[in-house]
Amino acid sequence: MIKLSVPDLGEEEIQEIKKVLESGWLVQGEKVYELENIVRSYLGTKHVLAVSNGTAALHLSLIALDIKPEDEVIVPGFTFPATANVVELVGARSVFVDIELETFNIDPLKIENKITPKTKAIIVVHEFGYPAKMEEIMNIARKYNLKVIEDAACALGSTYKDQKVGTIGDIGCFSLHPRKNITTGEGGLIATDNDEIAEKITMLRNHGIKIVNGKSSFELAGFNYRLTNIQGAIGVVQMKKLERIIKERQNIANIYKDRLRKTNWLKIPQEPTYGRHIWQTYHVLVDDKINRDELIKYLRENGIETNIGAYAVPTEPYYVRKYNYPLDEYKNSIKSAKSGLALPLHNKLKDEDIEYICKKLEEYK
Ligand SMILES: *Cc1c(COP(=O)(O)O)cnc(C)c1O
Repeated sequence: MIKLSVPDLGEEEIQEIKKVLESGWLVQGEKVYELENIVRSYLGTKHVLAVSNGTAALHLSLIALDIKPEDEVIVPGFTFPATANVVELVGARSVFVDIELETFNIDPLKIENKITPKTKAIIVVHEFGYPAKMEEIMNIARKYNLKVIEDAACALGSTYKDQKVGTIGDIGCFSLHPRKNITTGEGGLIATDNDEIAEKITMLRNHGIKIVNGKSSFELAGFNYRLTNIQGAIGVVQMKKLERIIKERQNIANIYKDRLRKTNWLKIPQEPTYGRHIWQTYHVLVDDKINRDELIKYLRENGIETNIGAYAVPTEPYYVRKYNYPLDEYKNSIKSAKSGLALPLHNKLKDEDIEYICKKLEEYK
């Protein structure tokens, strides 16, 4: 089976895990702080905090920004549902905005319509690693005094006009899940330049504890959202590989682009003119006449693992029950969820594998 995704892990990660086990210090410690330092210099933000996963990063961000019950938060209609679930978990309301089919990201032209006096924040997703249109979004946020959280879960290393995504809004959140370009098994990162937010998140990820002169006091009611030292050690090695991994993924995306150009029932992904895509997912759209789920089945029967790209969140049962939003406002989100297909993309993929995948796609009728 040609896998959809394979993490790039090797001997160096094993050796570093071994050292942590031998040290006996397994929870948040030296290796986690080392990972935070490496990511801080990579992103250029004042603070980087490691947490247990990308969803925890988003959850803590909303709490740190003081998003409260009945506040409204703008979320793209097409994403992994965790982006909206965290809004619900703080008791706020998810207000969905449709996406652009070219970028699979929130359509900046449709945001202002959804802003009300209760709107407090926008969560921007850089879906599949494609940078969202941050300038337009930040202008709207400034005009209405809204906070901006970047869900850069799949976009570590993507850039918008030479700035790394996740460093442009108030807070940037990243995931280190195995489906992302680098991984620690489970893991997340939060980036911010704001001292107050960083201090709050430092406490919230660790039971709400503040340590002054070696003495712990519980300043907040917090979580245990810490990354372990074992994961930190993996992350340190993975960060060294990140730029190479991005280059290799770009190469594979280029081969797909050349090879799939002529398959006219398939729309290949575009590339941003204003920044760098890191190709967490190679996401194509199939023609309306093609049943995407049948296509997934056909490819599986031919030894190729593919998957849907993301979800039209307003159509998922929880969101239908709670909001019942008019679905004709989310045409692009629904089309992407129905017709989107993630093709295999990882650096163990050989040229002949890509050729085989493209040939099998071409033969599909
Ligand atoms: C992966 C992902 C998440 C969740 O990250 P986890 O580390 O799995 O919790 C959230 N948002 C988006 C857009 C993602 O792709």
